Formats: sequence, structure tokens, C-alpha cells
Amino acid sequence: GLTLFDPARRNSRGYDLGEPGVPEALTAAIAKARQSNHIAAPIVGGVTQGGAAEPVRNPATGAVVGQVIEADRATVDAAVAAARKAQDDWSLAGGSFRADRLERAADLLEERDALFLGLAIDEAGKTLVDAVAEVREAVDFLRYYAAQARADFTYPVVLPGPTGERNELILEGKGVFVAISPWNFPLAIFLGQVSAALAAGNSVLAKPAEQTPLIAHAAVELLLEAGVPGDVLHYLPGRGETVGAALTGHDDIIGVAFTGSTEVARMINRSLAGRDGPIATLIAETGGANAMIVDSTALPEQVARDAVASAFQSAGQRCSALRLLCVQEDVADTMIAMVAGAMAELNVGDPAILSTDVGPIIDAEAQANIAAYVAEARAAGRVIAEAARTNLPADGHFVPPVLIRLDHVTDLKREIFGPVLHVATWKGGELDQLIDAINASGYGLTLGVHTRIDGVAAHIAARAQVGNVYVNRNQIGAIVGSQPFGGRGLSGTGPKAGGPHYLHRFAEEKSISTDI
Ligand code: NAP
Repeated sequence: GLTLFDPARRNSRGYDLGEPGVPEALTAAIAKARQSNHIAAPIVGGVTQGGAAEPVRNPATGAVVGQVIEADRATVDAAVAAARKAQDDWSLAGGSFRADRLERAADLLEERDALFLGLAIDEAGKTLVDAVAEVREAVDFLRYYAAQARADFTYPVVLPGPTGERNELILEGKGVFVAISPWNFPLAIFLGQVSAALAAGNSVLAKPAEQTPLIAHAAVELLLEAGVPGDVLHYLPGRGETVGAALTGHDDIIGVAFTGSTEVARMINRSLAGRDGPIATLIAETGGANAMIVDSTALPEQVARDAVASAFQSAGQRCSALRLLCVQEDVADTMIAMVAGAMAELNVGDPAILSTDVGPIIDAEAQANIAAYVAEARAAGRVIAEAARTNLPADGHFVPPVLIRLDHVTDLKREIFGPVLHVATWKGGELDQLIDAINASGYGLTLGVHTRIDGVAAHIAARAQVGNVYVNRNQIGAIVGSQPFGGRGLSGTGPKAGGPHYLHRFAEEKSISTDI
């Protein structure tokens, strides 16, 4: 059966950064764990591969953080062949055997968190708050999927049948799974995909995002050290158009776990459909155009706090981030003034500095795209508030948080993946039209609701075509096991990560009926 709630399983504690001395102690530990020459080279069959190295840069400062070596076609083919051979034994070893290894990896990750916190800050531009949350989530994924492997992949489920017959249903790994992840959760999503595929009994080919190969490399080394066989898990850094395309077009893979943009999910879907191999599974978690509905009964202070956190934490580079604040007309002036006031308090800058709230955009190209979008809005007279631009490192990629006024909720056509919040108003009595307009975007990831009327919250939650609804709180930072995460429509295929059905999509079911 499904393990919805396991009282023995605990989420990682992480750190209380509000406690005096904790941020400083962590910063010192991070400095000590920093490696001077980290090379993210492909790992195939447990063996590190060679090749030409390219620098990986810190998005806040431009400093070189390490090197990456792209996997070539022959390396990809060798990894697929080894993974194919090794998968049966890994699946037959059973859920408990695999869970032991994932749990060992979770323990190692907690022990060595300083290395991973440092990489999240240096390579991905995360603030310490975000880095701590990232490592916690990664640990939680490892333990959650391990617990499910134990519960659902160890013993058969016995089913009813006529006397003299035994009926059993078992779960097995599907085969060779490809895991393709984005840079915005370079550890948590990377490890979440990889550990789920492993837990269910698959061998795995893991391709991290181009911008964040180092933290993924360290994570793969950790899993191998924890006892995951080298032929079961292979690390293949490189670009999406080359390594990613070679993997998703390979005839010998059976599934892809992808998290990233809707556009690339479509490309992968076409690539899988064009192969001669078996019909492959695609688990895609993609973008959003997430709204927050605020009615006239909402508490303005709470709305300002939650809207600013949802829109601008991680510089808005979260798929769950708030993009469109929909405020009931009669309270709009108050709410907008409070949001603008809270934006003025944000510190934008190098995340290595503890007082920074909003770090960099991941790279120069993304920064230029967002800045161009903001410039267009500014020219149209739609920018109504902006965070200060002070003391930004010269070689970093920054966009200070910005608030843009729209005439109508339907004016937001696509995901802007950065610290850009739009605001539009709606008239009392037109709540259903508003929900319909939000649903009509086709995206369906997160929705925030602020109202003091329970019936209104329930009505919105019931009609919203989204995966995650958050009422009277922020709409980011889903907790593994408590808030299974993922969207629908343009936002993804499901099932939800960190939820009870995720592993099953990575598995095959087999029914065994025996005359006894
Ligand atoms: P992206 O450009 O779609 O890239 C995601 C991954 O796909 C990267 O590893 C990328 O490699 C790879 N890729 C690119 N082209 C490929 C191809 N032709 N074949 C195979 N793989 C290919 O997304 P991103 O910019 O990294 O991440 C931001 C997006 O992710 C946003 O849209 C965000 O909403 C979404 N996201 C969704 C969730 C969720 O749970 N729903 C969570 C986080 C992020 P390269 O790095 O080499 O390009």
C-alpha cells in the first residue's frame, strides 16, 4: 500500500539561522570545506573520465569556482551500456538494500553539509538561508524515497483470489532512467530525481544543468561512497543540446525524469517519441505563471510579507515563485504601498555576505533577458516599485526586484524566471472570472490565497487548476512528505515529488498468480 504517513520518518533539522552565532559558525565551516580545484568530470562505471576542462563561474562575482569536463558521445554510450547490464541486479536486490544505501548517503550529506552549502552559494548564487533549505530538502528526498522503497519495493502485496490460488503484485525497476535537472535547485532536484529512480530499482544516467555541475558531481561521489554501485549510477555533465539530446534520443533508455522549462520538456517528449526503443516514461516538472489572490479581508502586513518572500526569495528563480499578485480593487492602493515598502528593505548583492536577501541571476544571458523585459515595462510606464541597486559586485549578474503594473491578469503571457512581480486588480463579485482567467493561462503550478473567509479560500482551492495551493502564507519552499510538489498542464506531468505516488511512476508492476 501507499505510505502516506510514516511516524518513524523525520525531516532533516537543518539549522536555525536566527540563533546567535549559527550563521557565523556555518560561514566558518563553509570556508574550511571549500575546495580549490574541484573538477566535475564524467563518472562512468565508477571511473572518472578525462577531457578538456572549462571553468565554472560564481554568478555573483565572476570568480572561477571549479572546472567541468563535458561527456562525449562515446562516454554517453558506454554509460548506457553499463547501466543496462547492471539494472536487473539492482532491481532484484530489493527495496531495503537500496534504502540502506540512500539513507547512508543522507547521513553523509548531513555530516559534510558545509561542502554542499558552499557549492550552493558559490556555484548557484544561493544565500545562506536558501543553501541551508536546499541541503535539507536533498536529505529529506533521500530519506523519504528510501522509506518508500522499504515499504513498497521489499515485499509483494498479496491480493484476493479464489481458493487454491495465490495472487501477488510486485514493483520492479523499469530499466535505464535519465535524470535531467535545472540549475535553480542544483542539489535538491538533482538528488531528488536520482534517488527516486534508484530507490525504485532503476539504473541512472544523471545530467546536471550546465551552470551547476560541481555540486551534482559531489552528490554523485557521495552516493557511490554510500554503496550505490558504479555501474548503476553514472554522472554525465554537459550541455542539453549535446549530452541531454544524446541521452533522451538513446534507444536503450526507458524513462526520463526532467525538471526545467516547458519548452525543453516538449523537445524531450518529441525526442522520446521519435525513437525505435520501448515506449518511454516522461516525468516532467516544468515552469509556472503563479498567481496570488488577495481579497479585501486579507491582512495587509501578511500579504506584503508573503508576496515579497514568494516573489523575490532566491531572486525569483523558483518554479513556485509568485509572478502575479491579484489584489481586490478596493484594497489595492494599501496592499501595493506595503509591498513596495517591503521591497525597499531588500538587500541585493553577493550571497556570500550574510545580510544579502536577494542574490544574483544565474548567468549573463538570463540576466540580459530579464533586464530587457524590465526595460520594456519601464518604457511603457509600468514599473511602480524597485529595490535599490547598491554595492553590487561589478562582475556579477544582478536584477534588483521590480514590481510591474498590468491592466488585466491575462496580460501575463509567460514565465519570467527572475525577481519580477506583476500586479493586477480585480473587482469584488468577479472572483470566479478571476479564477477562470488564471486557469486559462494553461500553467498550473502554485497558487497563493490571502483571505480571512474560510469559504472563499475553500472555493478558490477547489476551482484552481494547480498542483499546490497555499492559504494565508507564502507559496514557496514545499516540504518533502508534507507538501508533495508539482504542477499540471504546461507546468508538468506529475506525479508529485516528495509525495506518496512519485516512486511508482519510476516502476513496473508485475502480477504473479500461482496455483497452490
Ligand atoms: P531548462 O533550460 O529547461 O534546462 C533544464 C535542463 O534541461 C538542463 O539540464 C538543460 O541542460 C537540459 N536541456 C536543455 N536542452 C535539452 C535538450 N534538448 N535535451 C535534453 N536536455 C536538455 O531549464 P533551466 O533554465 O535550467 O531551469 C529553469 C526552469 O525550470 C524554469 O522554467 C522553472 O520553472 C523550471 N523548474 C521547474 C520546477 C518544478 O518542479 N516544476 C523546479 C525547478 C525549475 P543545459 O543546462 O545544458 O541547458
